[in-house]
Amino acid sequence: MNPAPVGRFAPTPSGRMHLGNVLCMLLAWLSARSQGGSVILRIEDIDYPRLMKEGAALMESDLRWLGLDWDEGGSLGGPHAPYYQRMRGELYAEAFHKLEKAGLLYPCFCSRAQLHSVNAPHLSDGVFVYAGTCRALSQEEAERRRRERTPAIRLRVPEEVISFQDGHYGLVEENLARECGDFIVRRADGLYPYQLAVVVDDGLMGVTQVVRGRDLLSSTPRQLYLYRLLGLTPPTFCHLPLLLDSEGRRLSKRDRDLDLGLLRERFTPQWLLGQLAWLCGLLDRPEPASARDLLPLFSWEKIPKEDLRLPAAFLS
Ligand code: GLU
Repeated sequence: MNPAPVGRFAPTPSGRMHLGNVLCMLLAWLSARSQGGSVILRIEDIDYPRLMKEGAALMESDLRWLGLDWDEGGSLGGPHAPYYQRMRGELYAEAFHKLEKAGLLYPCFCSRAQLHSVNAPHLSDGVFVYAGTCRALSQEEAERRRRERTPAIRLRVPEEVISFQDGHYGLVEENLARECGDFIVRRADGLYPYQLAVVVDDGLMGVTQVVRGRDLLSSTPRQLYLYRLLGLTPPTFCHLPLLLDSEGRRLSKRDRDLDLGLLRERFTPQWLLGQLAWLCGLLDRPEPASARDLLPLFSWEKIPKEDLRLPAAFLS
């Protein structure tokens, strides 16, 4: 038998949680707990200028209110502390130096405007592929430019198809060089980006099961490549459909009417979870249910693959 999974919540406290975040946390929790697994709470506050003050504490309060508990992390602490990305810089720096020693990094001086220019290669969905402009700069040229501008640092990616079996969407394949290009592992402002941090954290925290929105499906091949280079064991991945508003737009933290601050005033957690469980196929009717009530009903097969659209009168 497989050992019990270690799942995680990895929220970014850039605003109050909205319904889409709640759905993600609920499915991550159900997926791990229904297999007898544990859950880690990691606060992804690495990009601190964009964060909401008290955001992490509010997130914990919202998760508790929803009845979604965790075994380690956040203010609870635990064997892999700290659980706040802004306090884990040294670990990211270590990983970065490992890549640097392997000769896989180079400085990139491209401006945002250059990267997004009309001539830059991009895929049909608008994703820009890095054209490799700074890949072959001579050492002297790089030194000269460094005096004018601090570069971002990119990782060379191979012309290789990375494939994995997503627990919900099945086989995913990506040619890193053609569909992504060399990607940034240290920003010009010195911060380590999400792609590096998430791999270091999930890897070192012993996470074995990642459940998150399908907007991150296309990040996964990059992350798997980093797992390999850093010698860390990758988790399994299950991506979930996105939650759209009644007009088919992605929910964002700007949708104040669907954020937990207001929802907590109007509804009970059971009511809210029952609605979400019905929307994603775990319940036949939108009836109140606690997270624990949903445990025996959970299966990935019931969750649709298409994005979920909120009915116009949802929660009214
Ligand atoms: N921190 C990310 C978010 O809030 C999630 C990253 C992940 O699950 O890998 O969207």
